[in-house]
Amino acid sequence: RQRWLDKLTAGLRKTGSNISQVFTGGQIDDQLYEDLESALLMADTGVKATQHLMDEVKRRVQASGATRPVQVKNILADSLAQLLRPLQKPLVIGEHKPTVIMVAGVNGAGKTTSIGKLTKHLADEGATVLLAAADTFRAAAREQLAIWADRNTVEIVSQEGGDPAAVSFDAVSAGRARGKDVVLVDTAGRLPTQLHLMEELKKIKRVVQKADPSAPHEVLLVIDGNTGQNALAQVRSFDDALQLTGLIVTKLDGTAKGGVLAAIAQERPIPVYFIGVGEKLEDLETFDAREFALALLS
Ligand code: GDP
Repeated sequence: RQRWLDKLTAGLRKTGSNISQVFTGGQIDDQLYEDLESALLMADTGVKATQHLMDEVKRRVQASGATRPVQVKNILADSLAQLLRPLQKPLVIGEHKPTVIMVAGVNGAGKTTSIGKLTKHLADEGATVLLAAADTFRAAAREQLAIWADRNTVEIVSQEGGDPAAVSFDAVSAGRARGKDVVLVDTAGRLPTQLHLMEELKKIKRVVQKADPSAPHEVLLVIDGNTGQNALAQVRSFDDALQLTGLIVTKLDGTAKGGVLAAIAQERPIPVYFIGVGEKLEDLETFDAREFALALLS
């Protein structure tokens, strides 16, 4: 646990704002609050969540009669943890067999890597996993997924140049027939220009439902934690189109923009099932609101 927390802390500390810096002065004054507001904005907390946190912190400082900056820091940590709490929820599998998990995300977000890590995580828990290569547009995507399937020694349903929805349908049917616990559906992050990504993804969702009326049981979006407010925009548009059930936030081992989770909590409190803290198979962790708040402020 410690190792990844250190990575997360080191990554978050790269922020030019360095929130902890705000509390090194001798007193609680307007300057401190101004500096805090800028630091939160620099960490990509966004205007709304920053405003919420500022109001909350000022109110609690007043109510508690705090006089030292370090007390403000503790109050901020509590307020931030409270704001992030709704995002802390475990991914539960086992209610359905197979549990069908559709995974979306723009190219480069870390989707394929996250699917590889998630496969290992599920396999470590004793689940049998089947991968579906429903990004049929890019040969490289299929090959990448096959590599992760190999590394995890799990089966993959893949078809060169096939229709993404048809591959997904086949995979869910195969998952049922082979008694798998989980079917993970990898989807495209970009399409040839004449096709509309959201329409394709909605179609996959519809067709998966034909293979199993209760599926997909989870629709996850992978976002790059480094992209700050851009990640929030992606959450909005994918959620509008697909009704997301969870998020995986990647690259938190090297970012200054971890505040975006506060913005997500404020606007679209979709559970963060996992965070990515590196490129290796084991660099996937469950999200803990309090730990994350403390890392952001350390
Ligand atoms: P995709 O296009 O969304 O499938 O993205 P990939 O899974 O291919 O990842 C894009 C790049 O990000 C690769 O170089 C990955 O190694 C890297 N990457 C993915 N997740 C993480 C993470 O949590 N931390 C770091 N540092 N790099 C990551």
